[in-house]
Amino acid sequence: MQYTVDQRGYYGEFGGAFIPEMLYPNVAELRNLYIDLIYDESFQKEFQALLKDYVGRPSPLFLAKRLSKHYNTNIFLKREDLNHTGAHKINNTIGQILVAKRLGKKRIIAETGAGQHGVATATVCALMGIECIVYMGAIDIERQAPNVSRMRMLGAKVVPANSGSKTLKDATNEAIRDWINNPEDTHYIIGSVVGPHPYPDMVARFQSVISEEMKWQLKEQTGSENPSMIIACVGGGSNAAGAFYHYMENKEVRLVAVEAAGMGIHSGESAATSVLGTKGIIHGSRTLLMQTEDGQIIEPYSLSAGLDYPGIGPLHAHLIDTGRAEAVSITDDEALKAAYFLSKQEGIIPALESAHAFAALDKIKYSSEDIIVINLSGRGDKDLATYIKHFENYG
Ligand SMILES: *Cc1c(COP(=O)(O)O)cnc(C)c1O
Repeated sequence: MQYTVDQRGYYGEFGGAFIPEMLYPNVAELRNLYIDLIYDESFQKEFQALLKDYVGRPSPLFLAKRLSKHYNTNIFLKREDLNHTGAHKINNTIGQILVAKRLGKKRIIAETGAGQHGVATATVCALMGIECIVYMGAIDIERQAPNVSRMRMLGAKVVPANSGSKTLKDATNEAIRDWINNPEDTHYIIGSVVGPHPYPDMVARFQSVISEEMKWQLKEQTGSENPSMIIACVGGGSNAAGAFYHYMENKEVRLVAVEAAGMGIHSGESAATSVLGTKGIIHGSRTLLMQTEDGQIIEPYSLSAGLDYPGIGPLHAHLIDTGRAEAVSITDDEALKAAYFLSKQEGIIPALESAHAFAALDKIKYSSEDIIVINLSGRGDKDLATYIKHFENYG
């Protein structure tokens, strides 16, 4: 079984590039050049140097002793929360800004929901001195004021999307419209392993540094580069893709993909795509998504903005569909509980998204001999207001 992308841009029956004709030239340029570009020696030199000195990589692999004792197993945390800007997203935006530079692009556009990808994009644009326009739903601009301020301070222009539900999908539509109108000078930085081929593969390759480091870090600390299991949360799936990447072909390593069940899988307020999703096309690729019988996208819900997405990337659809990855769904309540627990056990306040991965420890089977790696995708600073609102119940 092949888990990486094939020649046609597919993962099994998922993936592809379903895009309006007007976008063909932009996507074809990227598809034809991305592999040669990113494995070019000078690209790798610049990419690795920035990951080291700007992002702060390698991110540590930390043996969480109190957590391990509580669960009677061996739990390591891959500390993506310690990266510059506080999450894994910067690995991808660094990679893509270098691609944009080499393609001679003068202008960067991005879409953002909660603002995390917008901030990571605005950051690398400031670093490179390139113009940055971030499309964001008008409602999200109100809900996510601190991240809007960050993007503006970094010099980005935040443009409200006022159509439809004024959230992420409307921002995405605006970004695509912009790209169609500015094909020559603009690169569109997508923030997860979603979108038309080659985006899912390109983003997975940039994030794969996570599992590349895990291998030698585990070897150093345990004597073997293979853990028993890797657990990661999945919104679109980029942090999970990075954490799984170098282990996908090794069946001895269990891969656990954790998605958000919101108020409960069947509550009508959920983002549990692996359970509720059916095959269809969203944002340019064929994958699993939450849709009505006549193909209308169902509004997802999760307390964590990063997991509040109605689909999953085609790689994860394939991993789950073939049984290579196990899917676990975690409610808001379970994630909040896990976030408070980790904070008190290890002195680490996780992002609400990452807290979903920790809650999975209560849902899956493992033994006391197992080596478990949890990908701690981001830190919780951005979620403090949400956490403290629930202090009565969990603190
Ligand atoms: C954006 C985000 C996620 C979800 O995105 P993926 O592409 O699924 O990784 C998870 N954790 C954090 C901290 C995020 O910012």
